[in-house]
Amino acid sequence: MTLSLHNTLTRRVEPFTPLAPPRVTLYTCGPTVWNYAHLGNFRTFLFEDLLRRYLEFSGYTVFHIMNLTDVDDRTIRAAAARGQRLEEYTAPFVDAFFEDRDYLRIRPAEVYPRATQWVPAMVALVERLLAGGVAYRGDDGSVYFAIAKFAPYGRLSRLDTRTLKAGARVASDEYTKDDPRDFAVWKKAELVDEQVGAAWDAPFGRGRPGWHLECSAMSLAELEQHFALQTLDIHAGGIDLIFPHHEDEIAQSEAATGQPFARYWVHGEFLNVRGTKMSKRFGNFLTVRDLREHGVDAAAVRLLFWQTHYRQALDFNDEALEGAQEGVKRLGELRQRLLERSETEGPHPGVLAELAERLEGEATQALDDDLGAPRAVAALFEFVRAANRELDRAQGGLGAGAGAGAAAALRVFERLMTVFDVLPAPKALAPDLVAWVEGQLVAREKARQAKDFREADRIRAALRAKGVELDDTPAGTKWRAAG
Ligand SMILES: [Zn+2]
Repeated sequence: MTLSLHNTLTRRVEPFTPLAPPRVTLYTCGPTVWNYAHLGNFRTFLFEDLLRRYLEFSGYTVFHIMNLTDVDDRTIRAAAARGQRLEEYTAPFVDAFFEDRDYLRIRPAEVYPRATQWVPAMVALVERLLAGGVAYRGDDGSVYFAIAKFAPYGRLSRLDTRTLKAGARVASDEYTKDDPRDFAVWKKAELVDEQVGAAWDAPFGRGRPGWHLECSAMSLAELEQHFALQTLDIHAGGIDLIFPHHEDEIAQSEAATGQPFARYWVHGEFLNVRGTKMSKRFGNFLTVRDLREHGVDAAAVRLLFWQTHYRQALDFNDEALEGAQEGVKRLGELRQRLLERSETEGPHPGVLAELAERLEGEATQALDDDLGAPRAVAALFEFVRAANRELDRAQGGLGAGAGAGAAAALRVFERLMTVFDVLPAPKALAPDLVAWVEGQLVAREKARQAKDFREADRIRAALRAKGVELDDTPAGTKWRAAG
């Protein structure tokens, strides 16, 4: 079996075949850097990480583009409120996003285009749309996309055009657009835009790009630059982006290029906190920063998320997180046992290897089926139980050949961990403990030089009592915090 993905365009799970295997081009809508991204945003980024990692596990080479929205209504308003320039205001949130990404063990994208750095490409795209007659200048000086000129509009979201019209009218009684559904691809510069440095000259008037246009321009520009292409293999994001954001991205891109914009549209569900969609609007957001400051192991967050399918809403609560933390601990313990066993027994076939082979078959079958991580994780913990039983048998000296195949089992286990990445994080030590350890090492070295081996051994024992193991190497004494 090979990988199948649910394609929002067709509402079906379809076999996945990229345009030019083994390469897969993937575009994901990145964070708007007006604030710290909340955990709901990161549920989307984590499902995209699972997608990327499983594509790589399956032998593909992924070229991942993730944009950073550093100019839009929210960043401009927030920068103005602080009396800052846009880049000055957004810089710390860009840094925070990368810190959070690394903490959550999300594999970095190949490129992170920032909207403010791609304005010439955006201007060029607007010119193309104007030249093609699918965009027009409104009386207010902004440029709008004419939805009536793009027949396939609504194909992704499948919203009835009358619904679109009625919905749009509520929010806008604008006379500057030909049709209330039309959306701005270029917004005329206002005073506040000038104040924060968010206005650019363009042949069709000074202004700034619309958010939807930013994604179209950056994805097309990166595709063109790296591969001379105009079609993405996969475009992913949260389901809240299907309409209007992704619908508008398709309209702009396809109207300009005449080519399909993305072949697979993959959307992840929301994260709920106590049954409510998590967003800043509802005030129940939990930032990744909060979790890090509370000492939560990112492996637990990852495991918790893998236990719910990406197309199902996920409820986040403390009990579920604690359960996941316990699961992470068990995985770490089993890995340690397999490691110790494989060091003593050598590469024999045996029960552990057979259990691991079954695990690999079940996990890949589940993941091939539209990233069925919950079933794969269930198979993983079934393996943990069975492998521990087998290792207990070996430890108790029960049965000839008990505990054989540990090395092969460990290889499979480690390979699956490249997809899930849910082993416990090495424990970080408090700075004062580190200082104490360093002091003890100096004292021990002095004792050894004075041939006072009793004192040296006493210090080693004192360190071990604090969970610090020593390793005397030709290059000096190394130490590490055990488990
Ligand atoms: Zn986007």
